[in-house]
Amino acid sequence: MTKHYDAIILGGGAAGLMTAWQAGLRGKKVRVLERSKKVGRKILMSGGGRCNFTNLHITESDFLCSNPHFVKSALNRYTAWDFIGKVIEHNIPYHERSHGQLFCDNKAKDILNMLLDECASVGTEISTECDITGIASIDDKKFQVTTNSGVLYASSVVVATGGLSIPSMGTTPFGYEIAEQFGLPVTSRRASLVPYTFDGEYKNMFSRLSGNAIDTRITFDKTSFEEAMLFTHRGLSGPVVLQISNYWTPGQAITVDLLPSVNAETLLIEVKTKRPKSVLRTVLNDHLPKNLVLELEALWWPDLKDKPIAELSNGQLAKISANLSAWEVIPAGTEGYKTAEVTLGGVDTDYLSSKTMEAKTQPGLYFVGEVVDVTGHLGGFNFQWAWSSGFACGNSL
Ligand SMILES: Cc1cc2nc3c(=O)[nH]c(=O)nc-3n(C[C@H](O)[C@H](O)[C@H](O)COP(=O)(O)OP(=O)(O)OC[C@H]3O[C@@H](n4cnc5c(N)ncnc54)[C@H](O)[C@@H]3O)c2cc1C
Repeated sequence: MTKHYDAIILGGGAAGLMTAWQAGLRGKKVRVLERSKKVGRKILMSGGGRCNFTNLHITESDFLCSNPHFVKSALNRYTAWDFIGKVIEHNIPYHERSHGQLFCDNKAKDILNMLLDECASVGTEISTECDITGIASIDDKKFQVTTNSGVLYASSVVVATGGLSIPSMGTTPFGYEIAEQFGLPVTSRRASLVPYTFDGEYKNMFSRLSGNAIDTRITFDKTSFEEAMLFTHRGLSGPVVLQISNYWTPGQAITVDLLPSVNAETLLIEVKTKRPKSVLRTVLNDHLPKNLVLELEALWWPDLKDKPIAELSNGQLAKISANLSAWEVIPAGTEGYKTAEVTLGGVDTDYLSSKTMEAKTQPGLYFVGEVVDVTGHLGGFNFQWAWSSGFACGNSL
């Protein structure tokens, strides 16, 4: 018996399940085909197991996309508050952390269960361990989807296969390949929201400091973020580093302000007057971890380290404070897809409708979630894109 669906959704992650739920609410017959053993695995591992499911301060400028206006329509039609409303309806306890980030109080599984309950209530069929071997457009209104367990037919196919990060979860480039098969360009991709690696002396230094976290402001080009930075055995990590990785051009320097809440030069000149006998190390120990200050001392003022600050010229203090507030470091690279949260780049949005996510050149073919060239900042934005794009698509199938 041939099986015909209104829509077949490839990938049972955040965006795929949201699309299925919304289409089901409108009475559509939907089947989700998931390659791995379980659906929603990235939801389960997200936000340190508590899923940072959205953010209270979402604007289009929190997203990177080669067409910055593309995200507007979907984000306006399904906002953070729409999703929060569902979370409340399902009695899922949650809390706000810094920068408007919303997390589950208990487990990320609460969010997955909500999506699965809603999908079940609208009759979504979900198949796991499903290998899709081919998609073909048979005529204007029909797609044929060939899988390891038979051939299926659908009026629409929604590609929700996500990105390439965490390959151990069985991520695939299948979504990009389908785009190319149907003539949609895919922008260049790289691992993003990802820690930096360093070579040489910086690698050794950061490794010795591994485990220390400090608040910094990191700037690349005209973009800055101010949050915690973590020293690791391989380089630098922490929220501020992940954020700037979205904007970074490999091979270029990033600028780190180690004292973002004080003017370093004013601080040192003031101390020179008020505590002239202090050495720089003691002054900076009030603001930075002691082992970091020792490393910086060896790097920038080894010959002056035991001199009272009164003996340092204003020029010397200006040079040291310039290093403290604008330290230029060139990462060797990133930790790559192994630890990245997202893939930057994806299906070219010029070829998709921003209202429905449908391919402009192939009626009935849709792309939602991370497979699209839309990447959010760290902080719940990537899930919001999955919910909003899934809503837009699910309501137009
Ligand atoms: C460690 C980690 C933590 C994160 N934490 C957060 C967070 O707290 N907040 C936030 O907003 N974002 C977070 N993200 C990002 C977020 O998880 C993704 O942006 C989001 O899951 C994208 O949703 P998606 O449905 O497009 O893709 P996914 O959730 O990745 O789902 C894609 C699905 O498609 C399946 N699939 C792949 N290939 C095929 C195929 N060939 N056939 C069938 N199925 C296939 C996959 O198995 C998967 O189930 C995190 C990411 C990681 C890696």
